[in-house]
Amino acid sequence: MYLKRLEMSGFKSFANRTELEFVPGITAVVGPNGSGKSNVTDGIRWVLGEQSAKSLRGSKMEDVIFAGSDTRKPVGFCEVAITFDNTERKLPLDYTEVTVARRVYRSGESEYLLNKQTCRLKDINELFMDTGIGKEAYSMIGQGKIEEIMSSKSEDRRAIFEEAAGIVKYKSRKKEAEKKLETTEQNLARIHDLIHELD
Ligand code: ATP
Repeated sequence: MYLKRLEMSGFKSFANRTELEFVPGITAVVGPNGSGKSNVTDGIRWVLGEQSAKSLRGSKMEDVIFAGSDTRKPVGFCEVAITFDNTERKLPLDYTEVTVARRVYRSGESEYLLNKQTCRLKDINELFMDTGIGKEAYSMIGQGKIEEIMSSKSEDRRAIFEEAAGIVKYKSRKKEAEKKLETTEQNLARIHDLIHELD
């Protein structure tokens, strides 16, 4: 599996629809200061569900929408789509290509799409769990990330190994099951109380 394509429209400095094609191997993005290199990686993190405007170097989520320039008016919405090669079916979907897209409007409306079908952020998170891809996963090593990993708590560091070992999805399902169990136990206790009252 590898990153095949990145399409951005109205995202940060990419006012026009911009398409970047990648091939297996190493790709270097070069350009003068302020030309938008970091905006490319911001786009990848954003489409994978980044919710923190600060970590995208903005103050509010709307800041990811092209804000206008001397020669161009601001735009009303932005969209980023990322396509992975899935010929080896590393992602559990029966498609040779998997495209994830995210769109947000100035009004605040937003949506995620998986192969052009509307989906929830949860679906995207689950799809990429244990693949090393994702807004928090280790496939994106930003500036200062190594220092952050080295100085973090051992439990936090452990999460990286768990993702690599492929057990994150099981832990997440366990957590969900435990939550359901707890709700069921509360419901049962309530029923017992009601029965007791009726007796
Ligand atoms: P450096 O080499 O200095 O790190 P860079 O190539 O990584 O630079 P970026 O930080 O990706 O550059 O891009 C910064 C540019 O993006 C700035 O010119 C900034 O004005 C522009 N930019 C960021 N957000 C928006 C937005 N919402 N609308 C328009 N332009 C934006």
